[in-house]
Amino acid sequence: MFLQGEDLRKVFLKAKKERFGIIASNVVFDSTIRGLIEGYNSKKSDGLLQMSSGAVKFASGNLKNMNVGAELISSMIKIISSQYKNSGVGLHIDHATPNYFDFIVYCIENGLVSSVMIDASKEKFEDNVKVTKEVVEVARKYGVVVEGEIGYIKGNEDEIVSNDELYTKPEEALEFVKKTGVDLFAASVGTNHGVTKGSQVVLNLDLIKEIDTLLIKNNVETGIVLHGASGLTAQQQITAIQNGVVKINKDTRYQMEMAEAVQKYWEINKDAIVRPNDVSLEDYIPEKKRFDPRKWLGTAEKSVQEAIESLVEISGSVNKSILL
Ligand SMILES: [Zn+2]
Repeated sequence: MFLQGEDLRKVFLKAKKERFGIIASNVVFDSTIRGLIEGYNSKKSDGLLQMSSGAVKFASGNLKNMNVGAELISSMIKIISSQYKNSGVGLHIDHATPNYFDFIVYCIENGLVSSVMIDASKEKFEDNVKVTKEVVEVARKYGVVVEGEIGYIKGNEDEIVSNDELYTKPEEALEFVKKTGVDLFAASVGTNHGVTKGSQVVLNLDLIKEIDTLLIKNNVETGIVLHGASGLTAQQQITAIQNGVVKINKDTRYQMEMAEAVQKYWEINKDAIVRPNDVSLEDYIPEKKRFDPRKWLGTAEKSVQEAIESLVEISGSVNKSILL
């Protein structure tokens, strides 16, 4: 079922207390949404689906109307998830920069989302605090969860590009959480957005623990979010969770799984749409039952389901749904 903000807050509190992670998965299409919800539900794990600014523009079509795109994605998630009783899923706005402030407010006021991320990490610290606090004030009225960010996360993700890595400073994290009142915040600890090889990642997982310990000591315990986690090993993710991470973002992994599944399908089924050299033009008939999009998109959907099923095993959220 769909989780409103207050329920999602319970999910993160439980995750923090019991030290497991919630996998937040980027979505655009109904295929991804169905695959993910099916997967979370089969493992009795709660989950979070998230939409980037690029995703909502794409979803709305050529007019790129973000409000329309968000309405569509939110409706799909609410309708599809209403069939499943073993897990709750929320909807989150991923990396909304301050220029999308009005979009964030629209989504909150219209009940489209359970949580939002305001990413003003490129602004000066005081400006980041100011705009993040403004989002928290709007969100509070509706029970919506808010994620902020301090420090840059290197790499490319949709409209978010950074060539630099700026590790989050624990003291700055404490000041940020105290001043803004965010429920979650993204820490930069060396992960990269996009495709990375293990050797390119200079991870500092101890930094998560250092930040978490400092927040707890000051009575402002918060959930820490790990972005750019597609390239991490299972053990690295487990350590991050033990150190205080409650939300792990995944985007690239699904894109890769879907592309591979479709590529594999067409490698095997190429003759359904392309005439083999040894068949004459008169004898060749394309095969509708194999080029039906439900067939090849179906393999992509299945691959996403399998991916999330293995991810929740690693993050420890299996059988932990608040609905059970
Ligand atoms: Zn991110």
